[in-house]
Amino acid sequence: AKQHKSTLEARQSSSINPWTGRSYSARYQSILQTRLKLPVYQFQSKLLEHVASNQVVVVEGETGSGKTTQIPQFLVEVGYASPGKSCVACTQPRRVAATSIAARVAEEMDVTLGGTVGYTIRFEDVSSDETVLKFLTDGMLLREAMNDPLLSRYSVIVLDEAHERTLATDVLMGLLMEILPKREKGSKYGELKVVVMSATLDAEKFQEYFNGAPLLKVPGRTFPVEVFYTAEPERNYVEAAVRTAIQIHKCEGPGDILVFLTGEQEIEQACEEIRLGAQDMGKDSPELVVYPLYSSLPPAQQRKIFTPAPGPKVVGGPPGRKVVVSTNIAETSLTIDGIVYVIDPGFSKQKVYNPRIRVESLLVSPISRASARQRSGRAGRTRPGKCFRLYTEQSFYNDLQETTYPEILRSKMSNVVLTLKKLGIDDLVHFDFMDPPAPETLMRALEVLNYLGALDDEGDLTDLGRQMAELPLDPQLSKMLICSPDYNCSEEIVSIVAAMSVPQIFLRPRESAKAADEAKAQFVDATSDHITLLNAYAAYEDVPSEERKQWCWDNFINDRSISSAESVKKQLKGIMTRLDIPLMTCRGKSGYDTNSIRMALTSAMYMQVAHLQRTGSYLTVKDNQIVYLHPSSVIDGKPQWVIFEEFALTSKNYIRTVTTTRGEWLVEMAPHYFDLDNFPECEAKDDLVLEYKKLARRMGK
Ligand code: ADP
Ligand code: MG
Repeated sequence: AKQHKSTLEARQSSSINPWTGRSYSARYQSILQTRLKLPVYQFQSKLLEHVASNQVVVVEGETGSGKTTQIPQFLVEVGYASPGKSCVACTQPRRVAATSIAARVAEEMDVTLGGTVGYTIRFEDVSSDETVLKFLTDGMLLREAMNDPLLSRYSVIVLDEAHERTLATDVLMGLLMEILPKREKGSKYGELKVVVMSATLDAEKFQEYFNGAPLLKVPGRTFPVEVFYTAEPERNYVEAAVRTAIQIHKCEGPGDILVFLTGEQEIEQACEEIRLGAQDMGKDSPELVVYPLYSSLPPAQQRKIFTPAPGPKVVGGPPGRKVVVSTNIAETSLTIDGIVYVIDPGFSKQKVYNPRIRVESLLVSPISRASARQRSGRAGRTRPGKCFRLYTEQSFYNDLQETTYPEILRSKMSNVVLTLKKLGIDDLVHFDFMDPPAPETLMRALEVLNYLGALDDEGDLTDLGRQMAELPLDPQLSKMLICSPDYNCSEEIVSIVAAMSVPQIFLRPRESAKAADEAKAQFVDATSDHITLLNAYAAYEDVPSEERKQWCWDNFINDRSISSAESVKKQLKGIMTRLDIPLMTCRGKSGYDTNSIRMALTSAMYMQVAHLQRTGSYLTVKDNQIVYLHPSSVIDGKPQWVIFEEFALTSKNYIRTVTTTRGEWLVEMAPHYFDLDNFPECEAKDDLVLEYKKLARRMGK
């Protein structure tokens, strides 16, 4: 440890950047001054000593104390990583956090992003052999483990935001429990160190899980935050949040505002309304700037949240103010300095999974008390602050859960099970999950993978399953892609899969809904939302690149989304080449052979199928849920059978992204699934009976 300290001091007092061999820039020096003030600095040598003498260390500290940006740097500075040999990884549950923190740390270290410091998120790798510090999503590290089971490239793995208990972090922890004994001191790849970082108080749980690893607390300072509740429940929390923000701007002293909302649409709407409200206050009031923050925002705009608030309009006048309207990402992942007021409507988008109907959806749901406390804490980082909870005090105590359930208890597990199988972990029942998922959920996952042909009846990975695991997609989509050459349309399916892997490409602004619908009409194939998506994507590919921006604008297409779809497609094609999946097109002179495309879709999605009822609604097959076609669907009329991509549980149960299919395809492609002996009595069954008879006739029986 002593040696660590001296190298560290030597490096810090040198004016030459050891990573670049150049002198540090002025910017480096000025950022260094702010960094040195972070609480985590007083804790540096203690931390390094503990890491030196333990394989696992748990670190707990107030959000904003410098854990994420500084601790990984401490580790590389004292020599845990060296270019081309070994690397320090820091995992993040969210893509935005991984990219934004990597950019910040590259700046702090005065190196180029993608060189010494890099990041990897799904479909985007900005790192190289030279990278010694890599930020990556927890899901990506899990994928890397598939091809590098001992994570041999890494000397230290920092599991950040462990308190979030995302599915991938939980699985990683279980995996690390298996890897750690294989990478003790003296092992072939050297000792692996793990630093688990958490923002909240139940860090003991991690300590226990990792066999009593030492728990270190970053001494943090926070200021008191006064909490206000509403007297009555708010009917419209977006409106209430906007109103509160304007009110603060009018009546409260200087300090920036952080508003928590749940998604892009809400956030953009609130930003607009806050801006309008500030304009109404007249030219003499202090300036108010508003920034949105959500995952699909381009990086350059994400970074704007760190711009300091504007100064006074006139010398000696009141300073301006900054409002950041953000998703949950600002709860613990990113810290914005200067926040004094927090507005918390009490909701976030959360994953929910119903194993009975095998559907996972994102639902706006009440947050937990632990989350509410984290949110209010964001107001007291630099001085005393205020938090406005847009719900009643009674609701806080009676309606909110104490903590959020770990995601593993709310997720469908088919992807994880496939990954674990690929990692060689066969005994899922004895895998060391911190919170084991419900047996029913695991059973469902095994069943789905068996139906898809990824696992055989013994539960072993098949060749198809091995290929599926190579694709960074949901198992159904992987299977669709792998089987698409059988239907002569892998070129089309890869476009569809790419277009489905990015945020919605069709825009429909409220004020120009009609024009947007007309634009979309050019691409419509009335039998399929998937093919409609394909038509739009293919039209985009045919536009010369310098005209694409305009084309997107004219056609109400989200140009960021569609251009990332293009890059996703490129990467998927790369993997397809590696896996020997041939690229074939069903596009002829008169357009696509849409039957082939619909068959390819059906071949993988037959478990998400609904049948038209006499009543005019749809009933999902086997699990018998009443559902309706989502209003955004382009499907014409009411076809007998439809397959669907997702459930949108709102006031009504909608199915979204829908394609018409045929009973005859279902019984031909998946007789093991549409097995009449195990079928509930329903109209769908009557139809299937007929289909089987027709099939038997065709086969000449
Ligand atoms: P923790 O992980 O303990 O919550 P962080 O390391 O994320 O803390 O943050 C430490 C400090 O770095 C905070 O004051 C934060 O505002 C600052 N910071 C992080 N990213 C940026 C950025 N892109 N621009 C300016 N400041 C940043
Ligand atoms: Mg952090």
